[in-house]
Amino acid sequence: MSLNAIELAAKAKINLSLDITGIRENGYHELCMLMQSVELYDTVRLERDDAISVRTNLYYLPVNRQNIAYRIAERFFEKTGIAGGARISITKRIPVAAGLAGGSTDGAAVLKGLNRLYETGLTMEEMCELALPVGSDIPFCLRGGTMLTEGIGEKLTRVPSIPKCHILLCKPSFGISTEAAFREFDTREKAEHPNTPLLLKALAEGDLETLAGNMKNVLADMARPNHRDIGAIEERMKADGALGAVMSGSGPTVFGIFRDKEAALKSYHTMRKSYREVFLASPEYCPVEP
Ligand code: ATP
Repeated sequence: MSLNAIELAAKAKINLSLDITGIRENGYHELCMLMQSVELYDTVRLERDDAISVRTNLYYLPVNRQNIAYRIAERFFEKTGIAGGARISITKRIPVAAGLAGGSTDGAAVLKGLNRLYETGLTMEEMCELALPVGSDIPFCLRGGTMLTEGIGEKLTRVPSIPKCHILLCKPSFGISTEAAFREFDTREKAEHPNTPLLLKALAEGDLETLAGNMKNVLADMARPNHRDIGAIEERMKADGALGAVMSGSGPTVFGIFRDKEAALKSYHTMRKSYREVFLASPEYCPVEP
């Protein structure tokens, strides 16, 4: 019997590294990123309906075509030729505009959910192709786990999973514009890049210390001088026992990687005294595809 409704967990992502390796003629930045999905998630519920509609628990989020979930659904029905729609209900827990791919992961969940609800049998490759024009992080969000992404998000390689650890996330209350962060990078003459081969070797060897100790995000170097909290949170987490701490994506969320759960929990409580949006999560381990 076919389903009428389905509920999915849309996981947030962090950047274990973020490097800008070039710029294309159309202005798109070529990136090289080690991405990791984490067990901090929005809940996305889909019900069959005649038209597409979106509702969320956050009054300030758009519910029209400006919502990534809406645009993905629209593309799904366009591409599959199905004359139908979906009532999409999103319960947000992932901080918005935070460098955690909140919108992209909702879009990925909508696509996976519609594929099941309407039994369209799209393969992972087909879903990635359908989603890429809507958002460059969506192909990763469709897959999850630990992955190396290159190009404009289209080249994905599964890499060994991150060793068991605890991830503390803290989002300061200000926002950082993704465009502004990239624009500022373009004006810089030189940048200190992550050592991606070293990070990959650390993953292959299950060496959490080397991995966490060498995490690097070129956009964090832009953000630190303008936003004191970024460096302060990174330092605070390291002082609390994190093996490494760095800003995720275009920020402003900073995350720290802890081996020791007690230390992570203690740091969580310290952070909560100064910041409202603090979360303790574990990594998501390579989910079953699609
Ligand atoms: P990334 O890490 O991919 O750069 P982000 O975490 O920085 O993304 P989002 O949380 O995806 O940023 O939000 C960016 C913008 O997208 C917000 O200004 C928001 O209004 C819009 N948006 C559209 N759809 C959604 C959605 N489903 N959830 C959150 N934001 C959305």
